[in-house]
Amino acid sequence: MDIESFVLDVVGVVEETADAKSISFAVPEGAEEKFDYKPGQFLTVAVPSDQTGIAARCYSLSSSPHDGGPLTVTVKRTADGYASNWICDNLKVGDTLRALPPSGIFTPASLDADLLLFAGGSGVTPVMSITRTALAHGSGRIVVFYANRDESSVIFAAELTRLAAEHPDRLQVIHWLESVQGLPTEAQMKAFAAAYGGYDSFVCGPAPFMKMVTTVLKELEVPRSLRHQEKFVSLGGNPFGDLAELQEAEAEIALAESDDDGPGADVFADAPAGPVKVEVELDGEEFTFDDWDPRTKLLDFLESKGVKAPYSCREGECSACAIRLLEGDVKMLYNDVLDKDDLDDGIRLGCQSVPLTDTVKITYS
Ligand SMILES: Cc1cc2nc3c(=O)[nH]c(=O)nc-3n(C[C@H](O)[C@H](O)[C@H](O)COP(=O)(O)OP(=O)(O)OC[C@H]3O[C@@H](n4cnc5c(N)ncnc54)[C@H](O)[C@@H]3O)c2cc1C
Repeated sequence: MDIESFVLDVVGVVEETADAKSISFAVPEGAEEKFDYKPGQFLTVAVPSDQTGIAARCYSLSSSPHDGGPLTVTVKRTADGYASNWICDNLKVGDTLRALPPSGIFTPASLDADLLLFAGGSGVTPVMSITRTALAHGSGRIVVFYANRDESSVIFAAELTRLAAEHPDRLQVIHWLESVQGLPTEAQMKAFAAAYGGYDSFVCGPAPFMKMVTTVLKELEVPRSLRHQEKFVSLGGNPFGDLAELQEAEAEIALAESDDDGPGADVFADAPAGPVKVEVELDGEEFTFDDWDPRTKLLDFLESKGVKAPYSCREGECSACAIRLLEGDVKMLYNDVLDKDDLDDGIRLGCQSVPLTDTVKITYS
């Protein structure tokens, strides 16, 4: 069974800055519903490679889902990066690119909430989508703190200026230029963010920037439910591959590990002896199954039952498949994205979770 991907036509390419381009896509006829998206979500694209066949990369949508415009991602060149440079150097109108439907949880629960959006460099991409959408379809206040190396690297500068002028009572944009002010310090960020208690906060940018802002928000006791972050990492694997092959390969690895006598080799040593009952809430629907094999990851199991559970990287790196535990317990075979607070809040990755208890209840909301 192939994971469902789609060939998108490139219908626009705009040079935003010397090292960033926005690429717009038309969705194939009949797939429009699959490509409905929420502001802050991302596409996973298959960049052709003569070395590996495909380099799979995620790119956040900078467009708004509600203004009738085409699906648009904004890609900034990573120094010595493969895919970002390939996209910026090669893609032109009339080309095609394979993509998975939009995914991700970096999206406001309500567009009417007051929003505090922190962006560093290309981290502005999902922030732009959220800002555009909330201004047009929400009612809250929006504060954007946007850090860049220097003036020439500010993506969407003109549009942010225009939007702030059009919505003076709702949108405030604070630009921070490293060339002028140096890197923002924790104390400066704390003084800034302290004014926006109760705002739903979103952070996306380089790792040190995200870490600092997250620390500040925690120190200001912003509750976990109002703190969201999106990590821009490159996927190691290839979610465009054949699902059956992927599952077979994973099963072989698990078997090889359990045959190994080395310490901790059997990752399933603490699994329940028999099939597990699992109750799942997804998009207002409820599913119950009583035959979850404890050696099968939740996402794989749900897909085998025909449940359209969200995912992107399938490798524990992106959080598109995040679930919340309501009852019972699971163990993640790999996690490179959730932090301790997430885990304490019961959040787990569906693509990496195997059961630890005889009954498990989870929700995707
Ligand atoms: C949820 C999410 C959203 C994101 N949104 C954005 C966004 O909006 N804008 C943005 O700019 N970035 C975004 N990113 C980051 C983006 O996915 C990439 O990580 C980034 O563009 C860097 O990728 P790169 O291939 O250019 O660089 P790297 O990943 O650093 O490239 C080097 C890697 O490519 C491999 N490589 C080298 N040559 C080849 C070859 N010929 N074939 C195959 N592999 C090769 C190397 O082995 C090495 O692993 C996002 C990431 C995530 C997870």
